[in-house]
Amino acid sequence: MSQKISNWIGGIPAAPQQGRFFENRNPATNEIIALVPQSDGSDVDAAVRAAQSALPAWRATSPAERADLLDAVADCIEGRLEEFAVLESQDQGKPVGLARRVDIPRAISNFRFFASAVRQFSAESYVMPGALNYTSRKPIGVVGLITPWNLPLYLLSWKTAPALAMGNCIVAKPSELTPLTANALAEVFTDIGAPPGIFNLVQGMGADCGQAIVAHPNIKAVSFTGGTATGRSVAATGAPLFKKLSLELGGKNASVVFADCDFEKTVSGTVRAGFANQGEICLCGSRVLVERSIYDRFKAAFTEKVAALKVGDPADEATQIGALNSLAHREKVSSYIDLAQEEGGTLLTGGTRPNLSGALKDGAFLNPTVIDGLSINSRTATEEIFGPVVTLHPFDSEDEAVQMANNTRYGLSASVWTQDLGKAHRVSDALEVGMVWVNTWLMRDLRVPFGGVKESGVGREGGRWSLEFYSENKNTCIKVD
Ligand code: NAD
Repeated sequence: MSQKISNWIGGIPAAPQQGRFFENRNPATNEIIALVPQSDGSDVDAAVRAAQSALPAWRATSPAERADLLDAVADCIEGRLEEFAVLESQDQGKPVGLARRVDIPRAISNFRFFASAVRQFSAESYVMPGALNYTSRKPIGVVGLITPWNLPLYLLSWKTAPALAMGNCIVAKPSELTPLTANALAEVFTDIGAPPGIFNLVQGMGADCGQAIVAHPNIKAVSFTGGTATGRSVAATGAPLFKKLSLELGGKNASVVFADCDFEKTVSGTVRAGFANQGEICLCGSRVLVERSIYDRFKAAFTEKVAALKVGDPADEATQIGALNSLAHREKVSSYIDLAQEEGGTLLTGGTRPNLSGALKDGAFLNPTVIDGLSINSRTATEEIFGPVVTLHPFDSEDEAVQMANNTRYGLSASVWTQDLGKAHRVSDALEVGMVWVNTWLMRDLRVPFGGVKESGVGREGGRWSLEFYSENKNTCIKVD
């Protein structure tokens, strides 16, 4: 059964002004599950006007009032957790268990965390002879939030909560491939009686709707999470307009495994890092670098564990690998598996489609794939694939491991697996990335900075960095006679 969804402007559903809709499919079954507004600049403009009308009253509220609203959003999503989890799974392809245990609870905790953070956010003062300076954080105004398809609600909540906490009003656009939980979030704002216009949602394609957000003169800041090529276009449009930009982009992250690691925990941890959410997380460790003395043993254990992952129906609680986000994305990922073989790689497991029947026979499934024998300079080992594909590479020394890990234009994250604390520090320090995990992966503390270097992005979000991004720091100097 497909539903026809709307934009949400000024707290109420709004049809796209040109009356155009596009089809949204469940990637596990290829069935149409929704018709989605194909919005353009006129819809974005209406959303900006609604946000501007709401702004004076919203920016005048106290941090405590805004925090209360974020808590109410969290409570409302929690009350509908199962519905959100099912929507996310059907729209994205991920196992419903993952959405139930990770995506939706993390979205809820984003709202609760930023509610608590803004209650405690403090200003600074600088006393000098004859004067006192104090800083205050002012809302930016109307902000644009553009999000990708891999963690739809989780990433939207990660931007929405701090933007509202700091007194801004929002025009948000989710990926055209995963519109449904954003739509449900807009419903939540209306259901809890949020001031109309503080959260506006426009659905549509990147080239027209997304671009219109970035180019709109009355949107003063844009937080964008997505691919590096799109980020470049967002920067090219937004920078000459002097917009504040936060760019969270692609990655080609390394898991660096030393011979002195805790072997079993490292195999489990690096398999999780490679294949969580079908490998469709910007932080996934898609290159596993392994010290040569344990390479063969590690390769065998890693491959065995990956081959045992349960691929199949995202609606089944036992499923570990669901569908990729679309048939087109599976084609892209498969083309890299072909390329890897042309580049001299050997498939250790995967590379094929699982044999699923019934409603799932036309779904975008792909068996998790492990490849070795590739040069660290190969395209397969340097370009972002963003799917269930991991390459294995041996190294001989700490220096070589660092050099190999840094051998990419990306610099988002890495994980280091060793029981030698000194080595963990040295290697972490030398890695050209924004985030390193040691003997773990994607362990989340909402207070820490999140973001990448090189072509993985510009700026940091998370904790106080999000609150700072969504506000302008103003200094007032008072002369004391
Ligand atoms: P994408 O760049 O294709 O799309 C992201 C969003 O941008 C979508 O909403 C899309 O409609 C919109 N968009 C497309 N063209 C646009 C334009 N010209 N102007 C404005 N908006 C436009 O990315 P995707 O395929 O949805 O997501 C996958 C990518 O996201 C991967 O590269 C992944 O690494 C990255 N990602 C990064 C992070 C991070 O935190 N660094 C997190 C998740 C995903």
